[in-house]
Amino acid sequence: MSKHRIAVLPGDGIGPEVMQEAEQVLSLLGEVDPTFQCDVTAFHWNSDYYLEHNRMMPEDGLERLKAFDAILFGAIGDSRVPDHVTVWELIMPIRKKFDQYINYRPVKQLKGIRTPFKDMNQMIDFSIIRENAEGEYSNSGGRLYEGTDRELAIQNTVMTREGIKKVSQFTFEYARSKGLKKVTSATKSNAVIHSMNFWDEVVNEVSSDYPDIEMERIYIDALAAFFVQKPQAFEVVVASNLFGDILSDLGSAVVGGLGVSPSANINPSRDYPSMFEPVHGSAPDIKGKGIANPVAQIWSAALMVEHLGRSDLHTSILQAIEDSIAAGVTTPDLGGKSSTKEVGSAIRNHLKIRIREGHTNAA
Ligand code: NAD
Ligand code: MN
Repeated sequence: MSKHRIAVLPGDGIGPEVMQEAEQVLSLLGEVDPTFQCDVTAFHWNSDYYLEHNRMMPEDGLERLKAFDAILFGAIGDSRVPDHVTVWELIMPIRKKFDQYINYRPVKQLKGIRTPFKDMNQMIDFSIIRENAEGEYSNSGGRLYEGTDRELAIQNTVMTREGIKKVSQFTFEYARSKGLKKVTSATKSNAVIHSMNFWDEVVNEVSSDYPDIEMERIYIDALAAFFVQKPQAFEVVVASNLFGDILSDLGSAVVGGLGVSPSANINPSRDYPSMFEPVHGSAPDIKGKGIANPVAQIWSAALMVEHLGRSDLHTSILQAIEDSIAAGVTTPDLGGKSSTKEVGSAIRNHLKIRIREGHTNAA
């Protein structure tokens, strides 16, 4: 049985604190389940590295990462280095070089986590699939007439038929594989936005190949309101880069916040490694206090394990997270008093039990 080769980039701030817990989950998996083995290599490419070498990663950094089956990323960001440097010289090159054009974010309410809403009798459980490579985040545009009264800025959105097609196909395939009945497409084609008309047209074309799945289009402003008013109404939402960015933070907020929100940057063709990371950043305000919630990082590792073909172990990890919440072991962001390490260790204890139970049940 070959080992999964994992590149781990802990990053800055709370990144290394939560990563330590996630790495220990991976090694525990190998101990309790001999059929799942990871070979982990850590790369400390972060702001300290930048201050020493004047770059975020070595020249052959991407070349080195290419050989791995997956990348587990912590978070990056430090007050001594401008954010555009940390993001644009580390995360973006990885996403682009490895053609990770899908950003997948589960919006799933874990048992025991209170949402901001009262009287909810159904758990929130859907996913957002964000286009991760083009769209509103383009280099096209700029400033004109700087320093004059006529000064203006132009930002061009670039959407390609191929790009929209790929993200919608991925979404419908995902829906089919999970037995879902409906795909929601976030749009704004009622305003005169050429790119959004195009988005609708292509998503519509793709949807005709999936007659078994309903496709609904909802304007982004109304959709934002529905995320709060009836979040249980969704199964999977497909969105452009900017809309998906905003919707995923909103989604995260309705199911417990950044401490419990994972994400995956996926290269569906698997020509290159995919990258798994929490939605949160380096949280400098709580760095070194030992109270960062490790759930988002551990859940991101679980998504990686699922991507590597072990959805059974992904399920066990989520159950173990819920078990530890049920046992009252949570960090202050969820209203608890436990430390990062206590939460990590509680999750691993429950995971051991869950996996052994799974094996016994299967036997
Ligand atoms: P942030 O996500 O780091 O923090 C926002 C708030 O959420 C803070 O109050 C923080 O304490 C809290 N928080 C975040 N993660 C938490 C966790 N696991 N447990 C408990 N509380 C948690 O966002 P920010 O403050 O806007 O940014 C800080 C730095 O992180 C900046 O340099 C930013 O550029 C960077 N950043 C990086 C990424 C990334 O690496 N992908 C993403 C977002 C922000
Ligand atoms: Mn964002």
